[in-house]
Amino acid sequence: MRISRQKGTKDIFGEDIKIWQYIEKNIREICSAYCIEEIRTPVFEATELYARGVGDDTDIVNKEMYTFLDKGGRSITLRPELTAGVVRAYIENGMSSLTSPVKLWYEANMYRYEKMQKGRYREFAQFGIEFFGSKSYLADIEVMMLAYDLFKRLNLLDDITLNINSIGCSTCRAKYIEKLKEYVKPNLSKMCDTCKVRYEKNPLRMLDCKEENCKHVLQEAPMITDFLCEECSIDFENVKSTLEELNIKYIVDKKIVRGLDYYNKTVFEFISNNFNFAVCAGGRYDKLIETLGGISTPAVGFGLGMDRLVLILKEKLVNKLEKNVDVYFVVLEKKAYTVCRNIVSSLRDNNIATDIDICNRSFNAQLKYANRINAKYICIVGEEELNNNTCILKNMQDGKQRKINLLSEDILKEIVINE
Ligand code: ATP
Ligand code: MG
Repeated sequence: MRISRQKGTKDIFGEDIKIWQYIEKNIREICSAYCIEEIRTPVFEATELYARGVGDDTDIVNKEMYTFLDKGGRSITLRPELTAGVVRAYIENGMSSLTSPVKLWYEANMYRYEKMQKGRYREFAQFGIEFFGSKSYLADIEVMMLAYDLFKRLNLLDDITLNINSIGCSTCRAKYIEKLKEYVKPNLSKMCDTCKVRYEKNPLRMLDCKEENCKHVLQEAPMITDFLCEECSIDFENVKSTLEELNIKYIVDKKIVRGLDYYNKTVFEFISNNFNFAVCAGGRYDKLIETLGGISTPAVGFGLGMDRLVLILKEKLVNKLEKNVDVYFVVLEKKAYTVCRNIVSSLRDNNIATDIDICNRSFNAQLKYANRINAKYICIVGEEELNNNTCILKNMQDGKQRKINLLSEDILKEIVINE
């Protein structure tokens, strides 16, 4: 009997894997250009890390975690997100003694038991960055700028919108929450059961509710930005004016809350205009390091949904990402294989994507194959060419061909000149 893959997971290959690799290449380049170092942490952690680090009244912790007891009786959870894991690693490895700011990036798979829909899976990948040690809004800007630059490199600036908000600090929030509760109280019975719990435990999160009834009740709710203290207010003004200076377009969306206690000040989301989902979400979380037992350290970061980014790009790149074969060797003579294989190796050493028949096909079948895979060049070596140590190098894009020496340097030169 056939065994199928699990709900919410996928096999990535063909056209999709090319888009993944294209994004990943850009991520590596941009992180290196921004002087950020990669971090890799374990797939599973103690459940307690997420209960404390994400918050035990969030959807993630309440409903979505893959949690199990291991054979030693420990409660283990597959990471549903990575900020808590990176903070744990930051504390555990004494990174607070490193020169600050410490700037880290990751790309890894996450696991959440979710209801499936477009752009929502049970195994999905996030690219994220976390900056530790700066309480200045300049760090918030740098983090948003990196995401913006990535979208720019991927030619997606017209496809996404940056939404920002400030959720203040615990002082501004205390005042605001009082007002929010006052506003909701008369209509609390119309809200969903989860919001009724949120009303008591974490009222800010009501603003994040996706239920229509709750959204309706909250339509005219007071907004946190009207309750910011002087420091938070100046900070938010600085963020906005710097984005304007940088020519980064944004919208203030007063409903973004990311309502966990340790989030503060700037929060933001990049939304896909077409798909209407957040592709990247982040903010400042100055209290999390303390919450997880480290010394108080300001921090800011984001998580970007790779699978969602792939969906957005896929629409734009249909048929644009070909199989990448630079040179395909079409070899007539069995005895030509030995000399050709050496040249193939040498071209591969130079990172030229080079291929040669491994199916013992006829000359014609090799030609047909080279056409089908859209090889940029074919290098033909028949009896005559072999005898006088030459080959015919044909540029498949313009159809021009030249007889040149059967030497990797000469083939390389010809390709480089035409690039
Ligand atoms: P949503 O409101 O869409 O559920 P979230 O607030 O749970 O998002 P975060 O925890 O902030 O999402 O994760 C950051 C990003 O990771 C999201 O903006 C999204 O792009 C991506 N993401 C989150 N959950 C999933 C999922 N189940 N499948 C694919 N991508 C996801
Ligand atoms: Mg979610």
